[in-house]
Amino acid sequence: MPFAATVLTLYPEMFPGPLAHALAGRALEKGLWTLKARNIRDAATDKHHTVDDTPAGGGVGMVLKPDVLARAIDAASAPDDPRPRLLMSPRGIPLTQQKVRQWAQGPGLLIVCGRFEGVDERVIEARNLLEVSVGDYVLSGGEVAAMCLLDAIVRLIPGVMGKMESADAESFEDGLLEHPHYTRPRQWEGHEIPPVLLSGNHAEIARWRRQKAEALTRARRPDLWKKRPPDA
Ligand code: SAH
Repeated sequence: MPFAATVLTLYPEMFPGPLAHALAGRALEKGLWTLKARNIRDAATDKHHTVDDTPAGGGVGMVLKPDVLARAIDAASAPDDPRPRLLMSPRGIPLTQQKVRQWAQGPGLLIVCGRFEGVDERVIEARNLLEVSVGDYVLSGGEVAAMCLLDAIVRLIPGVMGKMESADAESFEDGLLEHPHYTRPRQWEGHEIPPVLLSGNHAEIARWRRQKAEALTRARRPDLWKKRPPDA
C-alpha cells in the first residue's frame, strides 16, 4: 500500500496545491502516495454547519468544536487505522528530518489542520492527536504547515527521488547543514569556483565539503552542532 495522507481542513480546495507539482506531483500521479482532503465542515450537523464557537473563559477569536472535529476524525479513519494522527500546531513538537524519515516509512498520516485560535483541548486528548509544529512562528491555519510536512515526507518515499536526486548528503541527514554548491560557468562576475572542486581529487573534494559543512553548522546552527554525537 502506498503512503496514504488524509488531511482534515476547512479549506480542502487548497489541496493538493503545490503538492500537485514537480517531484511530489509526479509521485502523486504515479500512485506512489495518495492524498485525500476532507472538509471538517461536512461533520457539522446543525443547519448552519457550525464548526467553531467562542472560547470558554472569554477572550478573542473562535475555537474549533470538539464534537464536530471528532466526528470528522472518526469518519476519516477507522479504529484500526494504523496511521499516526497529527494536529498541526505551533505548540507541537518541532518537525525534524528524523520525524520526516520515520513517517515516510510508515503507512501514512491523518493530519488535522487547525484554524482560528485552535481546537478544543479535549479532542486532542480523546483522539490522541500528536501536535507538530513547523517552526516558532504563527500561521493563520494548519494547511500550509501540512503541505510543508507532506512535501518533506513525499520526497523520501521509496521510488520518488531518482539516483540523481539522492537524499544522502542533504542538510540534516548527518546532523550537519549541507556544503555549498557551484556549477558552470567557472568564472562568474569575477568569482571562481573553488579550485579543489575542479581538481578531480575525490578524497580532497569530500574533505573540503565536510569541512565547509562543519564550519557552516558551527556558525549558523550552534544548537545542531552541540547535539552531534562525539564520533560523528
Ligand atoms: N492561538 C494559537 C495559534 C492558532 S493559529 C496559538 O497561539 O498557539 C491557527 C492554526 O494554524 C493552528 O491551529 C495550527 O493548526 C496552525 N498553525 C499555526 N502556526 C503553526 C505552526 N508554527 N506549525 C504548525 N501549525 C501551525
